[in-house]
Amino acid sequence: MQIYADNAATTCMSQTAIQAMLPYFDNVYGNPSSLHSVGQRANEALTSARERIAKVLGCQAKEIYFTSGGSEADNQALLSAARLGQRKGKKHIVSTAFEHHAVLHMLKRLEQESFEITLLDVHENGIVSPEEVAAAIRPDTCLVTIMYANNEIGTIQPIAEIGKVCHERGVLFHTDAVQAAGHLHIDVKEQNIDMLSLSAHKFHGPKGIGVLYARQGILLTNLIEGGAQERGRRAGTENLPAIMGMTAALEEAAEGIDRNAARLTALRDKLIAGLSRVEHCALNGDAEQRLPGNVNFCFEGIEGESLLLLLDDKGVCASSGSACTSGSLDPSHVLLAIGRPHEVAHGSLRLSLGEDTTEEEIDYLIKTVTEVVTYLRRMSPVWRELQSGKRAYILK
Ligand SMILES: *Cc1c(COP(=O)(O)O)cnc(C)c1O
Repeated sequence: MQIYADNAATTCMSQTAIQAMLPYFDNVYGNPSSLHSVGQRANEALTSARERIAKVLGCQAKEIYFTSGGSEADNQALLSAARLGQRKGKKHIVSTAFEHHAVLHMLKRLEQESFEITLLDVHENGIVSPEEVAAAIRPDTCLVTIMYANNEIGTIQPIAEIGKVCHERGVLFHTDAVQAAGHLHIDVKEQNIDMLSLSAHKFHGPKGIGVLYARQGILLTNLIEGGAQERGRRAGTENLPAIMGMTAALEEAAEGIDRNAARLTALRDKLIAGLSRVEHCALNGDAEQRLPGNVNFCFEGIEGESLLLLLDDKGVCASSGSACTSGSLDPSHVLLAIGRPHEVAHGSLRLSLGEDTTEEEIDYLIKTVTEVVTYLRRMSPVWRELQSGKRAYILK
């Protein structure tokens, strides 16, 4: 049995998305900027892709900028808002402690340019309160950037309410919606979103392609200088096969969104209930306000890395912390942000389900994770100390 439970890291491509890409490798290979007929055919496809994506997000085609993925979209959104703010003498940004590194590292860079960054508390449930966003906004705030759904613990933020607070105070609002796009309903106008990032490979599209939505009137700062592609804001010949694959994947995901969410939520809750029966463990993040496919637990007395390796031996692909930090010895910044102490944060496991996850797989996951945790605890000196009372349990 091989179970892929790491869909938050990346997803397999859907057949629809693969088929949508193929014509653009050979038949329609032109450069959309060329004036001849071969180029113009490519340009028509590009125009239609932009319109189709805009329709799914509830915005205009000219508000869509194609990027190389979620990281680039996040970087460009933050840098653009910072430059716009700077021009008006506004150098304060509000964000959270549990953002993706694409946001956090760009904030670090801006801090070195003497921007002031306020990172909001995400509380034990992994949810930011709109009231706290309102309280953090100052006259010199130029941007609020808060992720739509967290990639590790899956918690969903009250995006429309946060956007409303920002707009009442005249502050730009960006959201990293990489984990949400294709999985949750998004309407940028209704939800008061000024800028939004998404990435195709998180919803069964190709890797290396994403979107930055920026509301009309927001002047973007280029990360890449050169040709006039993307309304002059992102140079380089467009990756048309990837754009067409992403567009097909997004439409397919949007079309099946309610059906998939209902099915996955039932599987997720069954998995959570099953794993909760393990002693001294805890679910990370709110039980209800979370992505349909996200399950994340801390198990006391063991190391997440050993858990992953043994699970892999049993055919289970999972993750501990985010893909970028696993491999390093630092515990996940997300788990620390929700208040898990270091020793508990080290024993974390993320299982992220996908549209193809089955009920039999959930049963196998419950059985296998329970067995592997029990096995590792038997060999763990920390667990022995906990059991003998030499050390106090942190998780009840
Ligand atoms: C995956 C991910 C990113 C990065 O997207 P890439 O397309 O891989 O660059 C950014 N933010 C979140 C929340 C993600 O899950």
